[in-house]
This record gives sequence, C-alpha cells and structure tokens, in this order.
Amino acid sequence: MSTQQPEETEPEEQLDSALVTARRQLERAATHVDVDDGVIERLKHPTRVERVSVPLERDDGSVEVFTGYRAQHDDVRGPYKGGLRYHPEVNADECIGLSMWMTWKCAVMDLPFGGGKGGISIDPKSLSDDEKERLTRRFAEELRYVIGPTTDVPAPDMGTDAQTMAWFMDAYSMQQGETIPGVVTGKPPVIGGSYGRGEAPGRSTAIIAREAVDYYGEDLEDTTVAVQGFGSVGANAARLLEEWGADVVAVSDVNGAIYDPDGLDIESIPTHEEEPEAVMQQDAPETLTNEEVLELDVDVLIPAAIGNVITADNADDIAADVVVEGANGPTTFAADTILEERGVPVVPDILANAGGVTVSYFEWLQDINRRKWSLEEVNAELEEKMLDAWNEVRAEVEGKDLSWRDAAYVVALSRIAEAKATRGLWP
Ligand code: NAD
Repeated sequence: MSTQQPEETEPEEQLDSALVTARRQLERAATHVDVDDGVIERLKHPTRVERVSVPLERDDGSVEVFTGYRAQHDDVRGPYKGGLRYHPEVNADECIGLSMWMTWKCAVMDLPFGGGKGGISIDPKSLSDDEKERLTRRFAEELRYVIGPTTDVPAPDMGTDAQTMAWFMDAYSMQQGETIPGVVTGKPPVIGGSYGRGEAPGRSTAIIAREAVDYYGEDLEDTTVAVQGFGSVGANAARLLEEWGADVVAVSDVNGAIYDPDGLDIESIPTHEEEPEAVMQQDAPETLTNEEVLELDVDVLIPAAIGNVITADNADDIAADVVVEGANGPTTFAADTILEERGVPVVPDILANAGGVTVSYFEWLQDINRRKWSLEEVNAELEEKMLDAWNEVRAEVEGKDLSWRDAAYVVALSRIAEAKATRGLWP
C-alpha cells in the first residue's frame, strides 16, 4: 500500500449527471413555491422509462444490437415531448434528467405538453445513411406502443435531424396504416414540418437576449455580444442580434473563437451546418480560445455550444453583464451560485432556447389541423409566445426577488402543480 500523501490541490468541481442536476434544481425551485410535497416527490420520478433492444443489420450483413430508451417524465399538461438523440453516452438516467428539463421547458412556455427524452446508445458517425435509416425505422417500431401524436411526440436532438424524423414518421405511419405527421416534429416542411423550426431556438435566444438588454436599461445598438458555438442556436442568435443592431464581437466553434472589438461581419461567417468548423478560417483581428471567449468583457454572453462550460473554475472570471443560455445546461449548479453572488444575471436555457419546442408545438398544431402556416405566421406567434413567457418570468424575478433561473422554475412548477392538484391523484 502506498503511504504517499496525495498532493494538496484545489478540489475540482464534480460535474453532475443530468438527472442529479435536474433533481437538485427541482428541490431548489420547490423552496420558492407553495407546492404540496407529494407533487414534488412525484416530479422527481419519471412516469415510465421504456428500454428497447434495436437490432441493426450492418451494410456488410452482420447484425448488431443497440439499446434504445424513451423516458416519459410527466404528462399532466399534455403529451410527452422531447428529442431522440443518437450518442454513445445515451443512458436511462440521462434521458430521465433531460426529460425533466423538457417538462419545465414546456410548462414555462405554457405549451400543452409534458417532458420526454430518448435515444440510442450509439456513435452516429459509425453509421452509413442506409444503416441510420434501418436503425431509425426499427427504433420507431420498438417505440410504437408508447408514442403517438396524442401520447408522446419525439423530435430531433444530438445525432438526429429532419431526415431521421422523416424515416421515423414514415415507419410509424406504415405500421399504423395511415399518414400520421403529428407523431414527431422537426420534419422537413414537405411532409408536415414547420417553416422556421430550424432557426427557432436561435431566434428565441436572440429575442430573450434583446429583452434582457432592454430590462437592464441598455440599448441593443450599444451592446456587445459574445457567442460560444456557431451552430443552429449560436449562429441564428448571432445573426439576428446583429440584424437588430448589436455588435457581435466574438463567435466560436469547437476549434476556437474569432474576435473583433468593433464587431464581426456575422452574416459572412458560415454556420456549422453550412460549413462545419469554418469559424477560425475567417479574417479577424484576433483569435481566442473557447475558454477566453467565455471571459470576454462584453454586455451579453451567449454560451450556445455544449453543457457545463461555465463551472466553479471560471465563474469568477465571467466578465459579461448578463449571460443568456443558448445551449442546454451550460452553467453548472456551483457556477450558478457564484454568478448569483457576484450579481451576474443568468437567463436560463428553459426560457431562452425554448423557441425550438415552441415551434415544434406549432408544427404539431399544423399537422393535426392539416393547415400549413407561413414563415411570417410562425415567427410572429413565436415572438408573442416568447414575450408572454419572458413577462411571466420577469414578474416572478421582480415580485419574489428571485434569480432568472429560479423564477423560470417557479413559473413552470406552479403550472404543473396546479394541474396536478386540479386533476388529483388517481386512484
Ligand atoms: P450544432 O451542432 O448545430 O452546433 C454546435 C456548435 O458548437 C458548432 O459550432 C460546434 O463547432 C461548436 N462546439 C462543439 N463542441 C464545442 C466545444 N467543446 N467548445 C466550443 N464549441 C463547440 O448544435 P446546436 O443545435 O446549435 O446546439 C447547441 C446547444 O443548444 C446544445 O446544447 C443543444 O442541446 C442546445 N439546443 C439545441 C436546440 C436545437 O433544436 N438545435 C434546441 C434547444 C437547445
């Protein structure tokens, strides 16, 4: 046995699983609302977690079996709603934690949905297009008994996209014997997808950033913005904020950031979808690391790449006046506390990027009503929904002197608890 003493080092923050964080956030939010303990207890647990085996015939004729999941957290306000991801780290606990966030997100937006999340534990990069199609069709069949347009409505997530949803919808419809576009959202518009769905989370993040700037008494024209991640969320948010007059001074992708204190020409930078990892190839006065972009002295910081980037290790160095969460879970629980103590407001993901699920709701409405909306209609309705949610959350911030995250949870939890109390516990 070694007798050597471990070196004295600063303890590093342990990054919690989605489920641990989601339960902690629920417990914290519960302290701010007058909700029956029984309701909180019920919300700590999902209604159901479906675990399925998904056999796949590889292109070479061999067969492999993968594990798929669908966590259904709570449906007191309507069908479960949430993405399906293809990623090696997909597991039951992650799906449950993420499905809980979807419950809050739908409730804070006042959508008639509850939270769901699922996926397959697989590296999507290991799949040919044909394999991905076969895997998706079989997954749809395995989940057929627990999903449906009035029960559980999946959507794209990491490793899945509009084409994946098209295959999923086709497989489900073929088995049911009729075309049922409302079984999934995020489809291509030609088969019942909604215009504006792709850019919606970025658009909502930009709308919320604009409102936050206004709330703190600044003019968007005099505002500097840094955006981490130049994908669907980050690029769309950056482009809109530039269009509305802000100076977006830094954007990054996985390789690093470009920085111009006078403002970048955002429109000319290709998004992750248009040309992956092209940010660093653009002309700019300076380049920065992804850590440095988070610490820039800007008015608004939008982390829009991945989770757990603002941690106890860098929360003291965040120099932005306000953080608007474009990504899901970019701020850890410990970092949140530090930022709150420092007086740096953090507008949470469940409000800021909720444009995605909101336009998914619009897509579902279009599907079940068989009536297509124009892009202008979608964007006008999204604007209205975002402003309603913003105003509800702002009222809690002001009325109860809460952080933006706590206020958003209070709005969500109050709606869910009221629905549960009204419906009652059966039997
Ligand atoms: P995306 O794949 O379109 O783009 C991700 C961007 O982040 C790319 O520019 C990529 O280069 C960059 N990136 C990847 N890893 C990075 C790292 N380690 N450091 C810095 N940059 C990195 O993804 P997206 O759809 O924009 O999603 C971004 C975040 O927003 C995720 O947290 C996602 O869960 C969340 N989100 C997405 C949607 C949606 O519908 N697209 C909706 C709500 C929330």
